[in-house]
This record gives sequence, C-alpha cells and structure tokens, in this order.
Amino acid sequence: MVELRAEVDLIPESMVAEYGGVRFMDQRGDGACVALDPVSRLCTIYDIRPTVCRQFDRGSALCRSILISPDAVRRLVSAASVSA
Ligand code: SF4
Repeated sequence: MVELRAEVDLIPESMVAEYGGVRFMDQRGDGACVALDPVSRLCTIYDIRPTVCRQFDRGSALCRSILISPDAVRRLVSAASVSA
C-alpha cells in the first residue's frame, strides 16, 4: 500500500483510504492502486503522485523482483508481518 504523508501528498479524497488513522492510496479489488489506469497501466495522477511513488527507484532490483514475481513479494511481506 502507498502511505500518504500528511499535508505533503495532496491526493483527491476519492482516492484515499484511511486505516487506524493512517492515510493510504485506496486500492481496487485486485490490489491495484486506484490511480492506476487499468488499460494504459499509467498513473492518472502522475504530476501529483505521492512522495513514496516519487522516491521509489524504478528499475531497481526491488522493482524488478516485484515485476517478475509479485507472489514472492507478498510472501516476504506476510512473513515480515508475522514476525513483527
Ligand atoms: S505512481 Fe500513481 S498509480 Fe502508481 S502507486 Fe503511485 S499513485 Fe498509484
């Protein structure tokens, strides 16, 4: 999930979800960000995208591992949440 920074990430409220006082980009049923155009696969709010999206190192080893094996990333996140 993409966590939003208060007073920094100015995202349309219709695209925001809040859990336990923390604000995130909302997700579609398949887990995709609501700002991701399902056809073009482009960000529909690119010019105002959240800070974490701006900082993500596109093309990095982490990025490539997510693209190649999203299930492996889900397993890593699940294991991390169990041990926390
Ligand atoms: S870059 Fe855009 S579509 Fe991708 S996670 Fe961020 S806000 Fe969502």
